[in-house]
Amino acid sequence: MKAAERMKIPRQEMPQRDAVERSSSFDEVNLGLQAHIAMREAQRCLGCKDAKCVQGCPVNIDIPAFIQRVADGDFKAAADVLYASNALPGITGRVCPQESQCECNCIRAKAKNNAPSAIGYLERFVADWARENHYHQNRTIPAPTGFKVAIVGSGPAGLTCAGELARRGHGVTIFEALHEPGGVLLYGIPEFRLPKAIVRKEVETLTQLGVQIVCNVIIGRTYLIDDLLGEENFDAVFIANGAGLPVFQGIAGENYKGVYSANEYLTRVNLMCAYDQQSATPVLRPKKAVVVGGGNVAMDSIRTARRLGADPATLVYRRSRDEMPARVEEVLHAQEEGIVFEMLTNPVEILGDDRGWVKAVRCQRMELGEADASGRRSPRPIAGSEFEIECDVFIEAIGTRANPLLTQTTPDLAVNARGNIIIDANNMTSKAGVFAGGDIVRGAATVILAMGDGKRTAASIDQWLRRDDKVK
Ligand code: FAD
Ligand code: SF4
Repeated sequence: MKAAERMKIPRQEMPQRDAVERSSSFDEVNLGLQAHIAMREAQRCLGCKDAKCVQGCPVNIDIPAFIQRVADGDFKAAADVLYASNALPGITGRVCPQESQCECNCIRAKAKNNAPSAIGYLERFVADWARENHYHQNRTIPAPTGFKVAIVGSGPAGLTCAGELARRGHGVTIFEALHEPGGVLLYGIPEFRLPKAIVRKEVETLTQLGVQIVCNVIIGRTYLIDDLLGEENFDAVFIANGAGLPVFQGIAGENYKGVYSANEYLTRVNLMCAYDQQSATPVLRPKKAVVVGGGNVAMDSIRTARRLGADPATLVYRRSRDEMPARVEEVLHAQEEGIVFEMLTNPVEILGDDRGWVKAVRCQRMELGEADASGRRSPRPIAGSEFEIECDVFIEAIGTRANPLLTQTTPDLAVNARGNIIIDANNMTSKAGVFAGGDIVRGAATVILAMGDGKRTAASIDQWLRRDDKVK
């Protein structure tokens, strides 16, 4: 097909669950493309020689090559290309901010009245096809090297690193603080965006490769890093424990009952099944909920509260909608589900009743002033603009930072002023044989960046273990 014909094909739509139905259901919102629609979408790709989309992808998937194979209907070959660079395409195809990574670099997006190739939809299609058709690539596992690597944390960084090391023949044990592996993929991102069955399947693939996963172990408490390198006999350690410590606004009233951090609220609902009335660890079912924040975490929290019954479910953000860091698709979906957006608004006090339960949040209106160091116009309060929003649940989703538990118990591990671990060009920390990656190094970032760190670090660990032709 000629390029001019390809340019005429409109971008294919992602089928979605009805907005009213889904606002009270945890079933996945996006339903995935059918094979013939995926092939049609794939025909839109111009197969550029100097493919800019690849540069936009943090793990440099050969995007035109996998899309061409989808267009040809050869889904096995498409899966081979995809999995060569990305161990978790069923996850990234669903949660990557494609609009600011691969798709924003697509040459089609530069043409007038045109839209980029739907790279994320196609990635998800191929990964789902491979899973549903039990297609496994031939993965020959080399003979065991005898080296043992410990990984702290089972989020995307830890899981990716584990897979890469296992495929090189190293013995890998992941230590996870919670009772189930997956990190934010499991306890943070809700079922309606990322079904847990997909995460569990990826974890199962790793265990089939021989990776051991030990849950309910907190490194820094149950074992210290020095225990792992000492009596536990590991040859190297990869720290990928994320940045899950919630940040609070520090306003009056945060101790009222019904006030949650997004982290606690989402963990209770996703990991501890609190949406199930029979759950041993239920969560409050809100009548009226307010969430403060503008990122994916805020969006996930308010959409979760809505599904648990909140009406209205109100999102309060101190900047304007254009500046919200959340994925564009999530904002759109939230809007369709009836979330009320109170933009340029900031909570200043949480109000409670005489029994200690939250009853409202006092907010003030903001206006955008001069651009700050980040280039964004900074919000400033408008005098006399205070007003109250009634709520029985108030959730703070304004960010997270590194949990100091592990670093404080490893004093020779260098950290920066924000508590993030400092690494060198090979992802090694200040401690020999101890590497780090993902959110614990970058601060709260993205799934694909964490995975990229896991992959690069596995290569560095492999080199380090084999230094001087050292053998076990
Ligand atoms: P994590 O995923 O945080 O995993 C760290 C793991 O380490 C956890 O399982 C934790 O329990 C464990 N751990 C912590 N301390 C210890 C210890 N001392 N001992 C043992 N185990 C420990 N990114 C996107 O790209 N797209 C999105 O749509 C998106 N949405 C998000 C929604 C929410 C609600 C949240 C919270 C984040 C979202 N992100 C999104 C960000 C993304 O999920 C993270 O950047 C990513 O998960 C970081 O991966 P990680 O492996 O570094 O850490
Ligand atoms: Fe785009 Fe993310 Fe896929 Fe890379 S991994 S091609 S950035 S969707």
